[in-house]
Amino acid sequence: MYFGCHVSIAGGLDKAIQRGQDLGCRAIQIFASNPRGWRAKPINPQEAQNFCLARQETDIKYVAVHSTYLVNLASPRDEIRSKSYTRLKEDLLRAGMIGADFMVLHPGSHGGAGWEEGAQHVAQALTRIQGEMDLQTRVLLEIEAGAGFEIGSSWGNLAYIMGQVPAAQKWLGVCLDTCHSFAAGYDLRTASGWEKTLHELDSTCGLESLKLIHANDSIGALGGHLDRHTHIGSGLIGEGGFREMMRRQELVDLPVILETPEDSHGDFATNLATLQKIWQTR
Ligand SMILES: [Zn+2]
Repeated sequence: MYFGCHVSIAGGLDKAIQRGQDLGCRAIQIFASNPRGWRAKPINPQEAQNFCLARQETDIKYVAVHSTYLVNLASPRDEIRSKSYTRLKEDLLRAGMIGADFMVLHPGSHGGAGWEEGAQHVAQALTRIQGEMDLQTRVLLEIEAGAGFEIGSSWGNLAYIMGQVPAAQKWLGVCLDTCHSFAAGYDLRTASGWEKTLHELDSTCGLESLKLIHANDSIGALGGHLDRHTHIGSGLIGEGGFREMMRRQELVDLPVILETPEDSHGDFATNLATLQKIWQTR
């Protein structure tokens, strides 16, 4: 497994590479621009080139970009969908310029219109993106906890979206966030829970569509639909659940990225050390 974490781009994109390298990351995730604003300043080509050059000097094998939180392609409101579409395209341009492997996208929230309608909006937007862009970056739909009107809290829901997009297997995929999956009802504490989860994933999306894991322990209960990440081993999934993840042969070649908090109980360095410790005793 290629362990890593979400790193800051403060001071320039290439600084993210250095931060990842300092932490010993084999995979990193970044925001391509301000994750809480609609507007993003254009990426400087020199900065993008510096990022690519800096990456070559490191052991970082995978780079993922996380889309902006505001993006909601499933919204029932035309204006929100239109702004989301523009913003996602801008972020995909950025991701292409820095040679990112993946763009992680939350399927979004249907706002009360029903998950099927929301999912159709997402599929339409992705179909349009594919027609308008020459994509180098694979777009990954991240499983959601299923809070409120969130769509995409089951593998079947994600498969439903992908099933409506042309050539989906060529440029789409899924991201398994351990906290979201657990909150959505997938029991990742045990070997049998992992078996069941991966079997369902395989029979809907196809196991080959799983390209990235977000490793986060969960504060919320199994099936509680609460998206609250915590340190590996301190939540309800526990070290045992992550050990079972690492024992799965079909997952060993995947990048595993931490999105754990940085607070008085730990930071990315301590969580990476925990993952390494579990890996040694798997
Ligand atoms: Zn995540």
